[in-house]
Amino acid sequence: MNRSVKILVCNLGSTSLKFCLYQMMEVGDSLLAKGGLERVTDYQTAIDYCVSTLMDEGHISDLSELDAVAFKPVIAENVTGCVLMDDEVLQAMESFAAIAPAHNPPYINGVRAFTQKLPNVPMIGLFETAFYQWLDPAFTRYGVPQDWHDRGVRRWGFHGASHKYIAERSAELLGRNDIAERVRQLYINDTSSPVDGKDLRVVSCHLGGSSSVTGVLNGVAIVHSFGMTPQSGLPQNNRVGDIDSMAVPYLLRQGLDLETIERQMTKESGLFGISGVSNDVRDIHEAAQQGNQRAELALNVLVRDIRRWIGASVMEMNGLDALVFTAGIGENDDFIRSKVCENLDFLGIKMGTVNEEGDGYQVLSHEKSTAKVFTISTVEELVIAREASRWLKKNKLKAA
Ligand code: ADP
Repeated sequence: MNRSVKILVCNLGSTSLKFCLYQMMEVGDSLLAKGGLERVTDYQTAIDYCVSTLMDEGHISDLSELDAVAFKPVIAENVTGCVLMDDEVLQAMESFAAIAPAHNPPYINGVRAFTQKLPNVPMIGLFETAFYQWLDPAFTRYGVPQDWHDRGVRRWGFHGASHKYIAERSAELLGRNDIAERVRQLYINDTSSPVDGKDLRVVSCHLGGSSSVTGVLNGVAIVHSFGMTPQSGLPQNNRVGDIDSMAVPYLLRQGLDLETIERQMTKESGLFGISGVSNDVRDIHEAAQQGNQRAELALNVLVRDIRRWIGASVMEMNGLDALVFTAGIGENDDFIRSKVCENLDFLGIKMGTVNEEGDGYQVLSHEKSTAKVFTISTVEELVIAREASRWLKKNKLKAA
């Protein structure tokens, strides 16, 4: 029997609520509905709107038809993976609210509001940090006193849903169903180290409003560009990316106050800060074409940093089988992709024109390229729905 479950995936912003309703079957899954609300001031009203939309459109006739509501929370203290979002987990998110101030508070409020409205439906969270559970401690540790580390000053990693999707899909496209299956089971089985056998070495570049690069060996993340907060790693659209930490006390002593510094690091930096033009790469290209040198520099900084993290990844993996580009910039920006792939013949990369296209992917490398270059469209909501449905299955099995 092909039993199905209905999972409502919700993305909670500080002023928005977006939702997708998925029907997950044992074989195949489908998106039944998609919607959202902007300028949300109170989640109760937004949730009522979401639920009545699903009912009016005939996707559910009763709330009990929802098998789960699933979310993509960012970070919590001592909790990761795909978990039931009970009070303990919400408190653990509260403890780390200062690490993700724009994300954790709306999630905590939103999940509480959903729980009130749907007390009998499990609330499931797939943490963005989940894919990085197996990073080596030598990679997650900063050179800081133990006390700082114990307070959470370490590399955590984000964009986990997206990179996990790429890990699974790239393995499928490369004919390695053993690895794809392993990725599917990552949060179900407690796997702790890469599988034996022939290695599969993939670098996943998620380049969008926020960007990160992950080195994936045999389906497991072993290198990742995000650090302790989503302001780290590559220069982001308007967020700072990695800088020397001593810049902050230096600027404080220069007379800038902490609030100004924080605002500038989170809203006026990254590609916007360098270019002075926009936080959208399309505008930056346009300005660069008209001779704006800061715009050109912003693009060059982004390319250089992507290459830096690809380098770190291939170093750890002893080579490369596939380089994958995903998200808004990764899937669309041929200029950035071509620049990133320049002079990488030592890695076996030979670029061609699009020589193969399929469901949500393209192969950009030449057929003689030993390392393949792909674009793959990431579908984060689907990853969340899939993980939530695996969670339901695992926990029902346990109960049986
Ligand atoms: P987010 O990371 O906010 O979810 P996306 O992954 O959609 O968003 O990425 C958004 C960014 O992708 C935009 O800011 C823009 O810079 C870039 N982008 C989107 N479409 C294109 C395109 N056709 N060409 C170049 N860049 C694009």
